[in-house]
Amino acid sequence: NKQYRLAARPVGVPKDSDWQFASEALPEIGADEVLVKNHYASLDPAMRGWMNEGRSYIPPVKIGEVMRAGTVGEVVASNSPDFKAGDFVSGMLGIQQYGKALAKDLTRIDPNLAPIETYLGGLGMPGLTAYFGLLDVGAVKEGDTVLVSGAAGAVGSVVGQIAKIKGARAVGIAGGAEKCAYVVDDLGFDACLDYKSESFLKDLKEPLKTGVDVYFDNVGGEILDIALARINRHARIVICGAISQYNNTTPMRGPQNYINLLVHHARMEGFVVFDYIKRYGEGVQELAKWYSEGKLKFRTQEETGIENFPSVLLKLFKGENTGKLVLKLLDD
Ligand code: NDP
Repeated sequence: NKQYRLAARPVGVPKDSDWQFASEALPEIGADEVLVKNHYASLDPAMRGWMNEGRSYIPPVKIGEVMRAGTVGEVVASNSPDFKAGDFVSGMLGIQQYGKALAKDLTRIDPNLAPIETYLGGLGMPGLTAYFGLLDVGAVKEGDTVLVSGAAGAVGSVVGQIAKIKGARAVGIAGGAEKCAYVVDDLGFDACLDYKSESFLKDLKEPLKTGVDVYFDNVGGEILDIALARINRHARIVICGAISQYNNTTPMRGPQNYINLLVHHARMEGFVVFDYIKRYGEGVQELAKWYSEGKLKFRTQEETGIENFPSVLLKLFKGENTGKLVLKLLDD
């Protein structure tokens, strides 16, 4: 059972020496436990935060522990009446080829509806983040202009598509012309702006000429400030993430333009998808319905080889992923 454990708390960008690669015998299962062969692991920006010491919405991964990660896979042995060998499940079994969990901590997934890795993306945690973040925190309404950063990524790509389903305009921000073309041509956003382009600030003007009603922030930093400069009265700023700041070695600074919240009677609110755990069923059902009707498209970027985990994780911070980044854990 090949696996990656956390060896040290990183300073800045995680280094190879922050990880320990190990191989162990398969775990024994106890009462109500299930052994799962993990086909894919989800690689998430949040993993960087879980490596840090300190208070957060979830305890840090301990030094020496298998790195926490969302997984999908197949049941190989079960001591629970709820699962049998051959069932497909999602869980948080970490960066390892096999893992065990209590049956109550696993969710059955339907491989006939979508490829199983989709349950790490649009039909999983990132899809639910987009769903509850935009509809509940962002309170999107028909006719709104929704601006979303990280628009070609796992969460952002779903945010813009749900905005369109709800009759809003969707404007994305992403790194590079290729990603922007994907966001507009494949996902159906009204516009997408390349923040790496020299003309970015000029390019924003036309698609945002009626201002921003909802800004869904995945990146923080300077782009958050640029968005705050364009908000409308009663705008909602959804703080979903701040990936541009996760590898900082100096404290994060707040936005300069925060006073626009006062000027425009706007609201800025952070949330964690886990807040909605009791409503996941409702969210997945709705996302699956839109997916089956062809109204939602999901893209997965599959990387292979558990050995490559440290370098594949860094792709998130270099913008080297489009859609949901997953790692295939099994050798075959
Ligand atoms: P993505 O699939 O969007 O991958 C990360 C993307 O971030 C990269 O592809 C890159 O795209 C962009 N990025 C990286 N560095 C920078 C930078 N310095 N400036 C601007 N953009 C950058 O990841 P996810 O969809 O999984 O996550 C998106 C955000 O949502 C993250 O901040 C994450 O922490 C957050 N999140 C929050 C949750 C919650 O419960 N609140 C739950 C899940 C995710 P590009 O090429 O466009 O730069």
